Amino acid sequence: MTRTDTIVAAATPPGRGGIGIVRLSGPKAPEVAAVMLGEVPQPRRATFGRFLDGEQQPIDAGLALFFPAPHSYTGEHVLELHGHGGPVVMEALVARAVELGARRALPGEFTQRAFMNDKLDLTQAEAVADLIDAGSREAVQAAMRSLQGEFSAMVRGLTEAVIELRTYVEAAIDFPEEEIDFLADGELRARFVSVHQHFAAVLESARVGTLLHEGMSVVIAGRPNAGKSSLMNRLAGYDAAIVTAIPGTTRDVVRERIHLDGMPLHVLDTAGLRAGGDVVEAEGMRRARAEIERADRVLFVIDAADDPAGEAFREERARLPAEVPVTLVFNKCDLAAGAAAQVAGGTTLTDPPRITLSALTGVGIPALRAHLKEVMGYRTAEGGSISARRRHLEALGRARAHAEEAQRQLTECRAGELVAEELHAAQRALSEITGEFTSEELLGRIFAGFCIGK
Ligand code: GDP
Repeated sequence: MTRTDTIVAAATPPGRGGIGIVRLSGPKAPEVAAVMLGEVPQPRRATFGRFLDGEQQPIDAGLALFFPAPHSYTGEHVLELHGHGGPVVMEALVARAVELGARRALPGEFTQRAFMNDKLDLTQAEAVADLIDAGSREAVQAAMRSLQGEFSAMVRGLTEAVIELRTYVEAAIDFPEEEIDFLADGELRARFVSVHQHFAAVLESARVGTLLHEGMSVVIAGRPNAGKSSLMNRLAGYDAAIVTAIPGTTRDVVRERIHLDGMPLHVLDTAGLRAGGDVVEAEGMRRARAEIERADRVLFVIDAADDPAGEAFREERARLPAEVPVTLVFNKCDLAAGAAAQVAGGTTLTDPPRITLSALTGVGIPALRAHLKEVMGYRTAEGGSISARRRHLEALGRARAHAEEAQRQLTECRAGELVAEELHAAQRALSEITGEFTSEELLGRIFAGFCIGK
């Protein structure tokens, strides 16, 4: 792929619609316009015309828009042909542009060119895809914030703080006679503290942004018959319109994707946990445990009518991974009238949080939903979420680890050179987020996730 060729694709989705748009970007766009329309439209002016084939016969008629470089989405010459939205019309227009020297665009290639031409940075380009893929109003708002550069600005601010710290350290290395004193300097320590706080704030925003984009994984576990499937259906039922069962999963683990005010939630209903059982059941439990290890949270369901003290959890607790947080769900409160009171009475600070509900009647379900949002630190978009991805979290985490290592070098070894080197590595990791320092391979992967024509 060269950056000087001209690409073409339908920008509207395949299928039939009132209007369909074919878009071209690259140096040949004006030439294609001249041949297909008989003239190059005035810049940024909707111009009615006939779109001609090789025999000068109209393929279609509609509006043409020409955006001369660099004032276009991609930063190159862009031509848009707004025709009638039918798949055959769109294909004929694309094919004609190809005859005239354009090439069919790869997925995301228009946005990739916008990135290459500095129209967008990488987080903004990703936000374009997030906006198109958004499954809720909140996700749209978060993607728009990132697209408008809010997340990029946060990362840039953090990068600048790291650079400042590094410059401060490097200045000391340049004056070796002062280095020792300098590294013991309280000012330097204070700067480190402030950089760590900065990291924490940006990571928190990115974490919530990633939740909004990728969702949180919640495993429903517990003894057979505790009401796990009923709870799953109940949670899903609240958003019946947007529930999608994901097929192709193991027969013992059922997955649903539901939304909690825009936050996607992957709920997994697992085979009941209990001792004994046959080979198939043992395999089901092995898988259930594997899912639990990977989960963001476990909802441990207890039949409150049968087991008001939550013995099932007490027995299972040691086998659950310590690092995965648990919420105890005392189900069937419609049968166990005293369950709520007993449960409230038994809570201690070290116990997992408890929710009493009835999957059958729906009582307590709103509280469970509120609880899930709260424990994930999820704020709705009104609180200012941005859209982020696991890739960003990973790079931020790496950058922070380098900054921590820098501080360790400072306090334990007083090695100014190594401090500066670690800070440089932190800075590089941060620049991967916005794309100033990103491998071709990673770029390829990011843009391949887009649809064709974007
Ligand atoms: P699982 O084996 O843990 O998935 O449990 P199920 O969801 O299949 O439920 C087991 C039985 O308990 C079914 O007969 C449900 O109708 C019943 N059940 C589930 N939740 C409730 C509840 O909140 N109240 C009552 N009364 N019955 C429930």
